[in-house]
Amino acid sequence: MSSKGRLRHLVIVLGDQLDANSAAFDGFDPHRDAVLQMEVLEEAAYIVQHKLRLAYFFASMRHFREELGALGRRVYYVSIDDPANTGAFETEIARAQHAFDPERTIVLEPGDWRVAEKLRRLPQPLEIRSDRHFLCSRSEFAAFIADHPRPILETFYRYMRKKTGILMDRYGKPIGGAWNFDAENRKSFGKSSPAIPSLPAQKMDAITIEVRDLVLKRFAENPGKLEDVDLPITRAQAIEQLNDFVSNRLPLFGTYQDAMRNGEPFLFHSRLSGPLNLHRLSPTEVMEAALKNEAVPLNALEGFVRQILGWREYVRGVYWQRMPQYADENVLGAHLPMPRIYWTGETEMRCLADAIAHTIEHAYAHHIERLMILGLFAMLLGVAPYEVHRWHMSMFWDAIDWVSLTNTLGMSQYGDGGALATKPYAASGNYIDRMSDHCRNCRFDPSKSIGEDACPFTTLYWNFLAKHRTRLSSNGRMRNQYLNLDRKDASELQAIRRQADKIVTSMV
Ligand SMILES: Cc1cc2nc3c(=O)[nH]c(=O)nc-3n(C[C@H](O)[C@H](O)[C@H](O)COP(=O)(O)OP(=O)(O)OC[C@H]3O[C@@H](n4cnc5c(N)ncnc54)[C@H](O)[C@@H]3O)c2cc1C
Ligand code: SF4
Repeated sequence: MSSKGRLRHLVIVLGDQLDANSAAFDGFDPHRDAVLQMEVLEEAAYIVQHKLRLAYFFASMRHFREELGALGRRVYYVSIDDPANTGAFETEIARAQHAFDPERTIVLEPGDWRVAEKLRRLPQPLEIRSDRHFLCSRSEFAAFIADHPRPILETFYRYMRKKTGILMDRYGKPIGGAWNFDAENRKSFGKSSPAIPSLPAQKMDAITIEVRDLVLKRFAENPGKLEDVDLPITRAQAIEQLNDFVSNRLPLFGTYQDAMRNGEPFLFHSRLSGPLNLHRLSPTEVMEAALKNEAVPLNALEGFVRQILGWREYVRGVYWQRMPQYADENVLGAHLPMPRIYWTGETEMRCLADAIAHTIEHAYAHHIERLMILGLFAMLLGVAPYEVHRWHMSMFWDAIDWVSLTNTLGMSQYGDGGALATKPYAASGNYIDRMSDHCRNCRFDPSKSIGEDACPFTTLYWNFLAKHRTRLSSNGRMRNQYLNLDRKDASELQAIRRQADKIVTSMV
């Protein structure tokens, strides 16, 4: 980095802000302004990370540098292997400010409270711009919460549908006469076996190959597989993936949203979370592409819009409303570390082994695997919610703090006591049996809670309900679960408790 005279604006672009039209570029003048991109070791190492995740971030950032160059924007890019790289945002920003003496340094609000705090405390203050990638700004969400002190996703989702007019008719009513089509959605494959369309293959170019080799060398001990980086890295690849999803997988997205099949990581899911979270795609263009395809049935469209316009915006709003206290929430008092099997996949539990295998191989598992296999087992065991989040941040290509923390600590672990989910997503092996083909080939029996072939999910499920009776039995949405627990006599509950203790001991 060498000084080329005084700059007007130095625009910092963080790794999850790869949008040439973001608010950080408003008023950008290619003759007087420049961009700073940094690959810093601190961010690559503050949590040990899946090799594919690291490769995805670095390759995306380097391709974005090229795209900015093609737009005539000057970029100062600090790569991780640059000998002058000091390894942290604070020192790299100071180095650039010293070299270029900008009148103003601009950045978009970060997606991680920890990074936002770092930037807020810099000696030379930054201009921090609001991120219009999201359809509900932080201040609008705060106003929404002020009007809805006990918010639930459904209320927020309807508010967003009305505000944007998406899937609304001209009388202000939801298209199709209903806000959701759950009766048609969330089916298992059962005896049907629809062909699962393959994803578009993404070829690695020279930049991606260079990054892959760098990660393999420098982060050789990190978890996860890294052979090909078969991910949508460039904006063009992200658009190709979006179009492929809309044509080939979206029509059955809603129907099989909650289904699982052994050895099938992607099913009818979009695999768009990575490009969305790195801002390669905007949520608006993703929904517009979906809405344009007239062949897509309403149940699939609504199911998809609910995820993007509802859940994605909602969890971000909750994150910024409740941080930093949110990270410490742990209403169930869970304290175990993350079990070793989550890093290796070495377990006889077929469902868990499969979901962990997908994670190791692809840095991806779909929503129901994350919630009802990986997350569920950790919650039933009693793993500390923040530890589950840390593991998730390590292992998934799409994990950014705002979306991982809320989904893991909140939705999947019930650490926040119901801010995100109105009840814990607690279920036994019978749920997994209904939604997948795992159990029929597993050495455990999902219907059994005691004995050598009892399913660990089922044992831990009953134990979880019994253990948290005081807190959870008054939750109306858990009434049936507690009625079923009450059918068990004291000796059965005692045997379940003993077996659950053994499972916990074997895991830690
Ligand atoms: C324990 C747990 C951890 C999660 N961590 C992350 C994470 O780190 N990053 C992340 O992007 N998503 C996370 N999610 C949400 C969701 O599981 C992923 O967005 C989804 O699996 C990504 O795959 P996909 O793109 O194929 O999604 P699809 O099933 O095709 O869904 C379409 C899109 O909807 C959005 N979406 C769906 N559900 C959610 C949700 N609950 N919160 C936010 N956005 C949602 C995503 O942008 C996704 O790409 C997590 C969910 C759970 C239960
Ligand atoms: S029996 Fe239990 S452990 Fe085995 S696949 Fe089914 S739910 Fe998973």
